[in-house]
Amino acid sequence: MRIDILTIFPEYFISPFKYGVLARAIDKGIIKINPINLRDFTHDLHRTTDDRPYGGGEGMVMKIEPIFEALSYLQQEYDEKGLVILLTPSGKLFNQKIAYKLSKEKRLIFICGRYEGVDARVSEHLSDLELSIGDYILSGGEPAVLVVIDAIARLIPGVLGKFQSTSEESFSNGTKGLLEYPHYTRPREFMGWKVPDILLSGNHSKIAKWRKNKSLEITLKNRPELLKSLDLSEEEKELLKKIKNEQ
Ligand code: SAM
Repeated sequence: MRIDILTIFPEYFISPFKYGVLARAIDKGIIKINPINLRDFTHDLHRTTDDRPYGGGEGMVMKIEPIFEALSYLQQEYDEKGLVILLTPSGKLFNQKIAYKLSKEKRLIFICGRYEGVDARVSEHLSDLELSIGDYILSGGEPAVLVVIDAIARLIPGVLGKFQSTSEESFSNGTKGLLEYPHYTRPREFMGWKVPDILLSGNHSKIAKWRKNKSLEITLKNRPELLKSLDLSEEEKELLKKIKNEQ
C-alpha cells in the first residue's frame, strides 16, 4: 500500500515509522510512506498555506490551492488515484471496521489540517472521506494520521509476525466486537498479586469460558454501549445477566 501524507510538517513523520510493526512493514515493502510538504505547492515568497477566515472569527484556515496542487501532482504521478482522506474532528469516527476496510486499499492520501482547520471546499470537492479519531481536539492532523496508519497497517496480510493475530483482539471478529479479556505472564505471583488459577490449569475449555466471561465483564464495565449492537448468543446473554446480578 502506498500512503501519501499532505502536511506542513513532513519532518513530524521521520521517527514514528522507524519502530516496531510499522518499520517492519516498510522494510518488507508492504507499505510505502510518502510525506509531502504542502509548502512545496505554494508560489509566494513566504510559502503561505493559510489565510484569515471569510466571515471573520479567530484563527487561520488552511488554503485550498496548495492542497489542490499537491493532490493533482500526486494523482498524475501514479496510476492508482487513491482514496483521499481528510482528518477532521467533524469526520466519521474512526474504528476497527473502517480500519479493515481501508487496509484493502492500494493507495491512501491523507490531508492533515492545522489552525482552525481546512477550507471547506477540500471536503466538498477533493476528499473522499473525512475521519475523526475521537471526540477531542488535537492541534493538527499529524498525530491523527499516525493513529489511523498504525491501525490500518497491522491489518495488512504479512505485516504482523506469524505469532501475532488480529482476530482475537478487542473489536475484532474473534471477540465478536467485545473488549479483549486480560492477559498475564510470568511471574505467577508478584507483590502478593496472583495470576488467576484457571489460567494455570491447562484446561482449555474452562480457560476459554473464563476469557469470554472476562470480556463481557470488562465491556459491561468500560463500554456498555458496545453491548447493544452485538449479536450475542443465548449463552452469552445469560452470562451477561449473571455478571450484572453479581455487580
Ligand atoms: N476548528 C476545528 C473544530 O473545531 O472542529 C478544530 C481544528 S484542529 C485545532 C486542527 C486540525 O487538527 C484539524 O483540521 C484536523 O486536521 C486535526 N484534528 C484535530 N482533532 C482531530 C480529531 N479528533 N480527529 C482527526 N483530526 C483532528
